[in-house]
Amino acid sequence: MMTPGEVALLDGFERALLNHRLHMVYQPKVSLDDGRLIRVEALVRWDDPKLGSVAPSRFVPLAERHGLIDPLTQWGLRTTLRQWLEWQRQGLDTCIAFNISALSLQHLDFPDLVERMCRGLEVPSDRLVLELTEGATQPLVTLMDTLTRFRIKGIGLAMDDFGTGYSSLMQLRQLPFTEVKIDRFFVSDAPRNNDSRVIVKAMIELAHGLGLSATAEGVETLEQLALLRELSCDVAQGYLISPPLEPSELVAWAPRHRRRWKMLVNPSEEPRLRRHVETNALR
Ligand code: C2E
Ligand code: CA
Ligand code: CA
Repeated sequence: MMTPGEVALLDGFERALLNHRLHMVYQPKVSLDDGRLIRVEALVRWDDPKLGSVAPSRFVPLAERHGLIDPLTQWGLRTTLRQWLEWQRQGLDTCIAFNISALSLQHLDFPDLVERMCRGLEVPSDRLVLELTEGATQPLVTLMDTLTRFRIKGIGLAMDDFGTGYSSLMQLRQLPFTEVKIDRFFVSDAPRNNDSRVIVKAMIELAHGLGLSATAEGVETLEQLALLRELSCDVAQGYLISPPLEPSELVAWAPRHRRRWKMLVNPSEEPRLRRHVETNALR
């Protein structure tokens, strides 16, 4: 049974999807080695005239439960691939990370659909990484064939929110992932909590031991950044580097970030200046 609030939310979401009132924002993921932009993660946004700004954590699960996840995924992916082309035209060369619900993977033809979309828009498929989180109902291990077909097409696969929920070591060993994303729960605690630090270190070593790249999510402070560099983590994403951006903001962010990176990795000892560098990425 749905509550009246859920009915209104679902109704509003369906209309927003049909009437093209959703949009995508993009959050940079940068190399911890030299700060260069590795890719951007596409995140959907819904600003409703009546309901205000609705978080994806509210409407994505609703879309999953009510048969709207496939249209959302296809709209989001097409929008993101078109945006990639636009950035290329503007001289910004990057790759894309796109979130996929485990439900979409149940369609056997899904890898072909993604490949057709890339080919139709002339986006090389090796510029795309799909971020997957295991849902409660469908263990990813049952989707081995589908995931392998993505890899054959050159599409990368990231295990999202690693260390929380249903993600398991078995999946990392058995499935053809290319990247592990360490959940921000561990990252945020790591500089001050020895247990979290040990876990983050082990996750990075585990990823490297399996030949995968390690990304830290939710990097918000200079201490976290310094620790992740010390632990040889590969990629960082989080408000310290940049919040999710509108497409045109990303183009302006890139040169500013190149200058700011030096201050992020060689921060001043002066507390006021450190705070200034930390908060400067936020709008
Ligand atoms: P996620 O894939 O783990 O995405 C990261 C979330 O963390 C995003 O929230 C992002 O805005 C937020 N974030 C980034 N940096 C920081 C930070 O430094 N600190 C904190 N506290 N948060 C940070 P958002 O955009 O609200 O998305 C929430 C979740 O909704 C995503 O988690 C993803 O699972 C799902 N989602 C978002 N867009 C899509 C989409 O287009 N399709 C699907 N299937 N799921 C999506
Ligand atoms: Ca993600
Ligand atoms: Ca995540």
